[in-house]
Amino acid sequence: MSYYYTGCAEHYEPHFLDACFLCRKPLGFNTDIFMYRGNTPFCSKDCRQEQIEMDDAKEKSWKRSASSSIRKSEQSKNATGTTTPDKPVRTGTVAVA
Ligand SMILES: [Zn+2]
Repeated sequence: MSYYYTGCAEHYEPHFLDACFLCRKPLGFNTDIFMYRGNTPFCSKDCRQEQIEMDDAKEKSWKRSASSSIRKSEQSKNATGTTTPDKPVRTGTVAVA
């Protein structure tokens, strides 16, 4: 079992742990279960990663400027004062705190 907790489980209902949340593949007792947000089970890292990315995209639109801590990995590379004129697109909100 590889339980993996990523923070709080605010708006998620507790899910049954017998099927992958994403692809609905049955999860047996001897199957590795990859947890996300504490109570969402996935059959594989790939499935979990997809859900994480979907949630991440959602959170970006929900919490535009409310919190800048959720997307640290993706934004850390260009978050600090990007003044490169050649780069046309910055994805989402750049943290200018
Ligand atoms: Zn799955």
